[in-house]
Amino acid sequence: MSAERDFDVVVVGGGLVGASAAVMLAQQGRRVMLLDRQRPTVWSSENQRDLRVFAISPGSARLLSECNVWDAISNSRAGAYQQMQITTSAGGELAFHAHQHGLRQLGWIVENNLIQSQLWGQLDNLVEITAPAEIKQLIPGDRNTRLELSDGSRIRARLLLAADGGRSTVREQLGIATSNRDYLQRALVAELQTEIPNEGVAWQIFLDTGPLALLPLGDGRSSMVWSLPSEQAETALQWEPEKLGAELTLASNNRFGPIKLASRVAGFPLQLQLAKQMRQGRVILLGDAAHQVHPLAGQGVNLGFQDVAGLAQQLTGIELQDSDAMDAALEKFERWRISENTLIARGIDGIQRLFADRPGIGGIGLSMVQRFWPLKDRFMQHACGIHPNAPQICRR
Ligand SMILES: Cc1cc2nc3c(=O)[nH]c(=O)nc-3n(C[C@H](O)[C@H](O)[C@H](O)COP(=O)(O)OP(=O)(O)OC[C@H]3O[C@@H](n4cnc5c(N)ncnc54)[C@H](O)[C@@H]3O)c2cc1C
Repeated sequence: MSAERDFDVVVVGGGLVGASAAVMLAQQGRRVMLLDRQRPTVWSSENQRDLRVFAISPGSARLLSECNVWDAISNSRAGAYQQMQITTSAGGELAFHAHQHGLRQLGWIVENNLIQSQLWGQLDNLVEITAPAEIKQLIPGDRNTRLELSDGSRIRARLLLAADGGRSTVREQLGIATSNRDYLQRALVAELQTEIPNEGVAWQIFLDTGPLALLPLGDGRSSMVWSLPSEQAETALQWEPEKLGAELTLASNNRFGPIKLASRVAGFPLQLQLAKQMRQGRVILLGDAAHQVHPLAGQGVNLGFQDVAGLAQQLTGIELQDSDAMDAALEKFERWRISENTLIARGIDGIQRLFADRPGIGGIGLSMVQRFWPLKDRFMQHACGIHPNAPQICRR
């Protein structure tokens, strides 16, 4: 049997949330190990764009700057947007302009693989990586957590961070319950070429079947996120590219001229999932392991980045072997982040229900927010991750 190895922090899952958490805590001088089932493929500008692209908020960009990766990301393939247009097929419009909120950008559309590659580039110098890795056994304790991996290695962590995604095995092994709502929808994602190029506007159109987003990729093209009832989505996945383009042109009311597909199409099932706890002893759930939301507001990974920034903030100056200080810091973290994440997730769920059940009222709601500046500005501060209750790093 191999000797047990000690780490301050072990992170399970090296997606964007786990990888950024590993970088942030290593920067605090902690001894960190990161485990993942697989290493990500290395991003290259020669490769086709990753279909998983995210709207990264200014608050998240600040966290990624702290991780020393934002300059490289924003100088690669990142589509900045200064405007956001939200409309419905039943009328009603809400428009946001960065300069009205004292910002240069409302966000950036960036590939998952680009951010992950940059973060893993940092990790190579800062933390010990075990990938591929599979957890065989997890034994939680009062002051640390023991892990046995399927290759027989044994690890002890003062703090274990579960950032292993929506189907978190760590969460399951600890028996942490979740509340779930299946949207019975799938989000279709693809890259689109529109006759009228998309110059820095993030579009969200609430259709009777679900929201359709066209997000600017920086070269005039758009990334599509089209949420459809599952059966319709299954049918649409079988369509020829010409048919899908024609349906999108129709759905968008020809606003962008004829639309052509510029990539393959992928589909993701959608659900709301909230873990009832983000902490159990010395284990913390982060990102999708703790909360999954509908993509209509582009908040999923941004909430995960806020968890990371919030945890780094609470642990600043704390000795991990100081049990009382650790308990206090982790308790504070959980109270703060669970209330914030629940508020946002329930808010997004409320918007989804409103436009699904009463699109006419949803349209009136948009026009009201458009006219009521304090509400509009508050909404934008939350969307950008820079509201007064956001972690300090994100507000700098
Ligand atoms: C269609 C769609 C569009 C979206 N658009 C946006 C957007 O515009 N903006 C936004 O903020 N969010 C968006 N999201 C949400 C976003 O995709 C997620 O919130 C984000 O990917 C979660 O990151 P994560 O690191 O928590 O989890 P993941 O990305 O799921 O990463 C989990 C990691 O853990 C590893 N892993 C899993 N199990 C184990 C295990 N047992 N042992 C070791 N490793 C393990 C995996 O290999 C992976 O590397 C969207 C989601 C969808 C479906």
